[in-house]
Amino acid sequence: MWAVIHCLKTWGHYIGSKDVVVWTDNVTLKYFATQPKLSSKQVRWRDTLALFNVDIRHKTGKDNVVLHVLSQKHQLKVVYVGETKFQKEIRLASRQDAFAMEARQNIQNGAKSHFHLQNGLLWYKQKRLYVPEGKMRDTILKECHDGPLVGHGGAKRTTTLLKKSYYWLNLKDSAEEYVKTCLTCQQNQTLNKKQAGLLQPLPIPEGPWESVSMDFMVSLPPSRGFDAIMVMMDRFSKMAHFIPTKDEATTQETGRLFFTHVFKHHGLLKDIVSDRDPKFTSKFWRALWKRMGSKLKMNISFHPQTDGQTERVNLVI
Ligand SMILES: [Zn+2]
Repeated sequence: MWAVIHCLKTWGHYIGSKDVVVWTDNVTLKYFATQPKLSSKQVRWRDTLALFNVDIRHKTGKDNVVLHVLSQKHQLKVVYVGETKFQKEIRLASRQDAFAMEARQNIQNGAKSHFHLQNGLLWYKQKRLYVPEGKMRDTILKECHDGPLVGHGGAKRTTTLLKKSYYWLNLKDSAEEYVKTCLTCQQNQTLNKKQAGLLQPLPIPEGPWESVSMDFMVSLPPSRGFDAIMVMMDRFSKMAHFIPTKDEATTQETGRLFFTHVFKHHGLLKDIVSDRDPKFTSKFWRALWKRMGSKLKMNISFHPQTDGQTERVNLVI
């Protein structure tokens, strides 16, 4: 019944209000519509069924020849007894193959061997066909690796598949080499490399002068004894202070500048963004706190990153 409902749901739009006859070998389905007790699932099925003019009729499995064939997989199996084109090619190529010639010679001489000959083909341990060197091996490798039913298995899987039916010397090496050079496999290879970490964007400040980015423009032409500019830019309003300083300004000096030019106007900040090294920042903070006469713990966060905003402002200068 599930199959009938599935078909109606999928292809129902082709049927519309036409009369449809469903043939089934399940006799109970015939009475589905008149069944007094239904489970909740069956009730839903009946609702779907009610949308169409479906007539369910019974046909015994024996009479339903088409269905019978389709459901009996083994009956479709074709047994081919003649020589295939593939076998013919292998047989012909084996005549020029040194290994095959030697094995054949051994068999003819009655020497003990894992090989036996059958219709001109060399078989290893009864069930594995010997494949001579050449393009036939490539065809088989392709079949056991690229085929739609095998779907680019690894070297191990490809070797296992090959070993089921075929034999040649160093078969495993051939499989490994083939898989290694398979373009599709190369393209779909997963990287063992550690993934790059996620970018950590800076938090967006909620108000003016909460978060400031600090940068230095150095090696400028000297002017009134200064040759550098300390840029303090508010990340919220983009307002900036340009404070003249010197290239070799100490952290204490920088702390003083911050105190007189930023703190005086805007008070204490929540964080400072800078691309300066942590040593500089820690010294800078210590100098700043000393200046403020505070013995509080340093709880202003520091981002050792730069967001490019100060650099953009610097360009204006
Ligand atoms: Zn592949």
